[in-house]
Amino acid sequence: MGGATEMGGEQHGREDYDVVIVGGGVVGLTLANAFASCPAIRHAACRIAVLDAADLAHISAWSLPPHQWSNRVSSITNDNLLFLKQIGAWKYIDERRTNPVERMQVWDGLSDARIVFDSMDGLPPSSSLSSSAQEGPPPESTVPHMARFVENLHLQKALLQNLHNHPLIHLFGNTKVASIAPGAANWPILTTENGQQLKARLLVGADGFNSPVKRYSQITSTGWNYDAHCVVGTLELEPTMYNWTAWQRFLTSGPLGLLPLSDRHASLAWSTRPEIAAGLKALDGATLAATINACFRLPHESVGYLLGRIGGHSAGRPVDGAEIREEIAWRSSPDVLPSSSRRVADAELPPMVLRARMENVASFPLRIFHADHYLGSPPSTSSQPPRTVLVGDAAHVLHPMAGQGLNLGLADARDLALTVRQALENGQDIGGLTALMGYGRRRYVANHMVMATVDKLQKLYSMENGAVVWGRSVGVEVLNELAGLKRLMMGRAGGGGGGTGQHSSSGPWWPALADAYQAAQKSSLLASAIASFAANSLRHAIHRASAPNP
Ligand SMILES: Cc1cc2nc3c(=O)[nH]c(=O)nc-3n(C[C@H](O)[C@H](O)[C@H](O)COP(=O)(O)OP(=O)(O)OC[C@H]3O[C@@H](n4cnc5c(N)ncnc54)[C@H](O)[C@@H]3O)c2cc1C
Repeated sequence: MGGATEMGGEQHGREDYDVVIVGGGVVGLTLANAFASCPAIRHAACRIAVLDAADLAHISAWSLPPHQWSNRVSSITNDNLLFLKQIGAWKYIDERRTNPVERMQVWDGLSDARIVFDSMDGLPPSSSLSSSAQEGPPPESTVPHMARFVENLHLQKALLQNLHNHPLIHLFGNTKVASIAPGAANWPILTTENGQQLKARLLVGADGFNSPVKRYSQITSTGWNYDAHCVVGTLELEPTMYNWTAWQRFLTSGPLGLLPLSDRHASLAWSTRPEIAAGLKALDGATLAATINACFRLPHESVGYLLGRIGGHSAGRPVDGAEIREEIAWRSSPDVLPSSSRRVADAELPPMVLRARMENVASFPLRIFHADHYLGSPPSTSSQPPRTVLVGDAAHVLHPMAGQGLNLGLADARDLALTVRQALENGQDIGGLTALMGYGRRRYVANHMVMATVDKLQKLYSMENGAVVWGRSVGVEVLNELAGLKRLMMGRAGGGGGGTGQHSSSGPWWPALADAYQAAQKSSLLASAIASFAANSLRHAIHRASAPNP
């Protein structure tokens, strides 16, 4: 019974499994691949099932022509990329459909204070890569990338293809879990909508935000919905030689991101208020392109005015594309641009967007929620463990502005696979609390740290208060000069120590910066005091970042 054979979910009856993973999204499939690649799990002949309501056979056959792209794209950090290689899935990725990120330019929509992350930051001056004599960027193969963009469906397909080689993993596509109930010794019994029953020694919830496994385990979450949606889609660009920079401008209505896919394409990730998101989706491709270009280039007041007009759409006033384009042209003319408006070099601006492919423009509501526990607790009526554990979005969802959600989920999968392996090697019950406790503790702390930071930065950058803007801009300009610190920040992007659960030597400095800014926002001190406070906090953060591991 191989991985591919059950992707239609046609089987009936009841079967016992060592592990049942509900959710064949990227995180659930990565966990299954990690199990499949583990000698201890193979040696113990563990039976593992992956269930998903979606048609996994369809995803397995997914393909698009070279210049078309799916609208869900994620930046995968180096740590996670290495992990995907180690478990054998990356070899099924067509690398021509992926793109490296060498540089990130992030700037404040109000003050224009800018921070640049470069993959070559911190390389020794003698390094050939940092030679100033070099013409243009070095060949891609010689550059240490910051991350790599890949379509989520592409990743899912590669993970499924790799599972075809592993008979221990049973895939059930088109299989929706209808109910879960405790059986003898608390082994969860799942009943699917097509009448099948599966019993699990360990039940993994990789089943996303509305996780049925989380509900069954009575795990509560803490969080809230942002009053924001993220608009995504594929953009056609003016051709560029090396489209390896990710761009993000923090507008007060939310961050506007342009993520490089190829020398002619980028992916849009624009978090904004729901009515503006609805208005943007109602534009034609040329007008959306012009609006994106304008929102990267025009002063804050013009951006506010334009988005106000576009957001009025959902209040019943249809957007006239020609009017919007005219308005943009007028506001971009040298006569109208305020003389104080900062002139920026071309290198500091993203390539011009020629057209948005409206057929794949979509939006997602944004929220932050963190499960209060990752392991189910034993019911008071039973001394048996509940045998459930959460990974990925089932455990945590966060704002996408830092591109961390999937990366945290991949780090969960890595840690859980290692935890189960160690439990097997120690002769422990893989569904028991003793075996799983370390996973829950490590990943909760690591994820919480990233989530809290992203939430604070989200709030900080939505503010227009002059003192706050100055405080955050001073901090960002200082930060931009500190190549070593930026390197640490980039190293941390994998989600906190990855699979081993070890903490990065950088320590939690990013939250310290966010804390400093948040304090500045609450304070009514004079701007100079705020700047000095931000600088002190930054110094403190640097000190903590460079401190050796305890
Ligand atoms: C706009 C946007 C941009 C993002 N960009 C990035 C980025 O650049 N980098 C990054 O790291 N993250 C990013 N993220 C976050 C990332 O997309 C998610 O964290 C990630 O996809 C979650 O994967 P998952 O496998 O945990 O959950 P999901 O992808 O939600 O998968 C859950 C699976 O469970 C299945 N399921 C649910 N209920 C049942 C049931 N009852 N029975 C059977 N199956 C069920 C579903 O069919 C689904 O396949 C972004 C998110 C958004 C919204």
